Amino acid sequence: METNTPVHHWNSKQMIFDATGSMLSDEKTDRLSTLLWKIIEEAFEFSAKAHEKDGGKSILAGDSLYDFIKKRSIEELQDEQERETLLQMSEMWGAYVGEPVWKQSLRFAWMEECCGGEEMFVASDYSAIFGRISKTAKEEAKIMLGKKVVSVQTEDRSSGKQVSVTCDDVSTDQFDEVVMTTPLGWLKTHPNCFAPPLPPRLTSAIDNLKLSQLEKVFITFPSAFWISDSTTDSFPSYTNWLRPLYADDTNPHHWPQEIWNLASFTPPHNHPTILFYLYGDCSRHIVNAIYGKPKQEKHDFLDKFFFPYYSRLPRFDLENPSCTPKAILATEWLKDELNGYGSYCNFQTGVEEADKDVETFRDGCPERRLWFCGEHAAPFEECGTVAGAYLSGEFIGKKIVELYSANA
Ligand SMILES: Cc1cc2nc3c(=O)[nH]c(=O)nc-3n(C[C@H](O)[C@H](O)[C@H](O)COP(=O)(O)OP(=O)(O)OC[C@H]3O[C@@H](n4cnc5c(N)ncnc54)[C@H](O)[C@@H]3O)c2cc1C
Repeated sequence: METNTPVHHWNSKQMIFDATGSMLSDEKTDRLSTLLWKIIEEAFEFSAKAHEKDGGKSILAGDSLYDFIKKRSIEELQDEQERETLLQMSEMWGAYVGEPVWKQSLRFAWMEECCGGEEMFVASDYSAIFGRISKTAKEEAKIMLGKKVVSVQTEDRSSGKQVSVTCDDVSTDQFDEVVMTTPLGWLKTHPNCFAPPLPPRLTSAIDNLKLSQLEKVFITFPSAFWISDSTTDSFPSYTNWLRPLYADDTNPHHWPQEIWNLASFTPPHNHPTILFYLYGDCSRHIVNAIYGKPKQEKHDFLDKFFFPYYSRLPRFDLENPSCTPKAILATEWLKDELNGYGSYCNFQTGVEEADKDVETFRDGCPERRLWFCGEHAAPFEECGTVAGAYLSGEFIGKKIVELYSANA
């Protein structure tokens, strides 16, 4: 609000295509979606209660959110076909956490009960917000861009020695305190960056917390052919193609697909664009297929892959030039070293103490003048988010101020 960043509130309408590519009725969509979210809420509660009782140990580390939904669907729905549809709908969880719903730890599902407050989508970009939050740093600090940290050498605080940080241009600088904001994936792939090595508990936290693979694909058309009335926000914000059985040549694993309608933003921020969210193996398949390829080859691959879905949108007509993509942009976080080759941390089945792992990051190594922040060190309900990454930095900043105030 303070930065006047335009935000959008998605309408609550959704459109769901079943595995054969037929659209579900509005009645079924609403009823099953309401039931699904009720069950997910119950799973959060179940997980939170177990956490309070015994740190979650009464839930097996291997149990997943999917197991919970499956069990509850049998109790809630008589019709086997509807149960199957509900389970397929539950796969949308993957686009929140970046990996399939059957990998979501039930023991730590409570840590995914996200954010609270109003849900908004930034309809333009983050530049004004970045400008605001970086103001003090830009005014007061010396910022060195365009180089990568390759090693961090620490001594015991009691020695009075500073931390040495070496970059890929072989420059080394000394600091009183170092706050590492490199992503979890970077920490996973650069274990030898720290000398001496990080303490075992921190090393195991880096290992225990898994990284998910969320990617986005934007497809822009000459005009938003799927919308019949552009004067009202009446088209569903969200469209979901459940386990498609009709695209075997491009999607033999039947990965579900989903889009958000970016044509619904208030002008001038609206675009004739649909935004696909990909996760897990589907993300890896797409990025591996396009990475390093010439622009036209990428376009052709992506168009072929997504055609079975966008061609099922209302008003699609092969003969109409408005229905042929004008441009396609796919993220390739999987291949980005500075992004840690992934999206963000998630709490997968098998993890024993995800909460303690996050706390371990937050504790850092003050005895070595070394601290950690980022989405993986965020308050529990904000892990994996931009707000969480910001709050984690604020938290460490306060801790350092406290330390210096106490020693003043
Ligand atoms: C597809 C996708 C969709 C998402 N959607 C949402 C959403 O809707 N809402 C939401 O809140 N969050 C969302 N997120 C998550 C959000 O983007 C992250 O949680 C957040 O950006 C993490 O911030 P961070 O500061 O921890 O890490 P980053 O934003 O990754 O910042 C780390 C910084 O460290 C730098 N760096 C890395 N290695 C080095 C090095 N060796 N030397 C120097 N610098 C280095 C990088 O260049 C980068 O600038 C999404 C993420 C993805 C991938």
